[in-house]
Amino acid sequence: MESAGPSTHHIAPDVSSTHHVTPDVQSDSMTSRDYYADSYAHFGIHEEMLKDSVRTGSYRAAIINNGHLFKGKTVLDVGCGTGILSMFAAKAGASHVVGIDMSNIIDQAQKIIEANGFKDTITLVKGKLEEAELPITQFDIIISEWMGYFLLYESMLDTVLLARDKYLKSGGLIFPDTARLLFAAIEDQDYKEEKINFWDNVYGFDYSCIKDIALREPLVDTVELKAVVTDPCVIKHINLLTATKEDLTFTAPFTLKATRDDYIHAFLAWFDIVFECTHKKVKFSTGPHAQYTHWKQTVFYTPSTIAITEGQEITGQLACSPNARNNRDLDITISYSVGDEAEKEVVEYKMS
Ligand code: SAH
Repeated sequence: MESAGPSTHHIAPDVSSTHHVTPDVQSDSMTSRDYYADSYAHFGIHEEMLKDSVRTGSYRAAIINNGHLFKGKTVLDVGCGTGILSMFAAKAGASHVVGIDMSNIIDQAQKIIEANGFKDTITLVKGKLEEAELPITQFDIIISEWMGYFLLYESMLDTVLLARDKYLKSGGLIFPDTARLLFAAIEDQDYKEEKINFWDNVYGFDYSCIKDIALREPLVDTVELKAVVTDPCVIKHINLLTATKEDLTFTAPFTLKATRDDYIHAFLAWFDIVFECTHKKVKFSTGPHAQYTHWKQTVFYTPSTIAITEGQEITGQLACSPNARNNRDLDITISYSVGDEAEKEVVEYKMS
């Protein structure tokens, strides 16, 4: 899942923290103000997600190619959007699918499931999962596409964990059931110049007050594999069958070993998703080595350039927590030191 976010180079995530407010209007009479409050109501955001073939194709493979898991089972689709995952589940043989979404896009989803002959197998519920009453109260399988930038931005995972605790039968399955957050460091001189150092001199004026703010805002963008100068390091492993909401506030240590002599201008994060419960494991990565996805990667510029030699290590930790005032935003603190240097740099980032 993703908010109406950036589609061009290095643009920070969209602020759509209000999307849980569903305007009390029909989707065919919505105005721009309604779309601001309910960004998922617009087809454009769903177009981007549906066209992300790594994303949608992986869900399709995981569901459709595992008919033996779905046959005769009840399925809950958390945040069903246009109903695509619900229809995959119905096609895979589910006895009944309930799709829930709080956005007005569900009005279109209803038409879509009817147009495709799934009226009797799929029931759609409009509302917030946390508040809704569902026609079935225990499900065999939960399916959901909840991932945001940096995996956890927009924190929809909370909703999926709540759905699990309330509605999943014991021994039930979750699609997907594993997520991993990865971390590395990159050489990014040219782009850092353009995005961060730009503020030092704007048409001859000193705009450097913005430089600090810009640095603290992680950038969502695609990064070429050749920019990566360290081995990757897993900083968080989430098993959706057992994770708790509290696990999503964490501090993780990392050690990044340089693979060549170079300069480091930023840290880089991405995530991998695995459908562990599938027979022939379906997985995908949003890393710089993998095919493009709309999640791209997330870049955290460092205040100063770090010179590194092959084999040398950067050690540190990343602390991540939902923002106290808006739990869909993330506060991310990265502290690190290079080699045996005693001096530690601490940088506080904010994804909002
Ligand atoms: N499953 C669809 C849409 C994914 S986008 C697909 O794969 O294409 C995530 C959807 O979850 C959005 O449509 C959003 O409105 C919905 N959503 C987010 N939080 C929700 C909540 N707490 N309750 C109900 N729906 C939610």
